[in-house]
Amino acid sequence: MTKREGFVVVLSGPSGAGKSTIAQAVVSRVPGLVFSVSATTRPPRPGEVHGRDYLFCTPEAFARMVDAGELTEWTSYCGHSYGTPGDELARLLAQGNDVVLDIDTNGAGQVRRKVTGAVLVFVVPPSLLDLERRIRARGCASDDELTTRLTQARIELAAARNYDYAVVNDDVAQAIEAVASIIRAERCRTARLAGDLVPAAEGTETVGHS
Ligand code: 5GP
Repeated sequence: MTKREGFVVVLSGPSGAGKSTIAQAVVSRVPGLVFSVSATTRPPRPGEVHGRDYLFCTPEAFARMVDAGELTEWTSYCGHSYGTPGDELARLLAQGNDVVLDIDTNGAGQVRRKVTGAVLVFVVPPSLLDLERRIRARGCASDDELTTRLTQARIELAAARNYDYAVVNDDVAQAIEAVASIIRAERCRTARLAGDLVPAAEGTETVGHS
């Protein structure tokens, strides 16, 4: 078999959904899966390492990367900029790695438009589903707080519908296994293997044709 080019796996989800934990765990247990380190203008948090967690840079350096078209996607989030360096992503994919991007829903939309074959996975915190269930069960949410919560839940869930998969993180071990399974299954898609599949001999039956 020839070595196939890798594909991009986007992990998104509301803050606190646990996607960073899931991303790290899946990368450590699925061979051939690597993490794309984003550039950001956000200052490092205690324990974060330049080059491992993020490429920490100044707003000026980030703006230069945007102007030079060096970022595959980028976004502003809570007053800081975040983006995926395109050269490094292309290098990792060309080596045959599948590459995990931990990015927001805005960036995921850009990846969907620009990166062929990307797989989008939305990590849903259980509290969000619990929240929606509770609000729906009540039937009439009459005070301001409930209305705000329902609106927020709808925004989050609406974003999830644009993804290929949604994984509920009510048990982190199961969520990690679910994401790993998605990646393993995506690797087996015939469209990704097309060049490596043995062509059917003339006159043999093919699936889907009568
Ligand atoms: P944090 O500051 O908590 O590390 O990340 C804030 C948000 O930015 C998270 O939702 C994270 O997924 C997102 N993020 C991190 N890197 C990137 C990136 O390169 N592009 C985009 N679009 N979002 C990112």
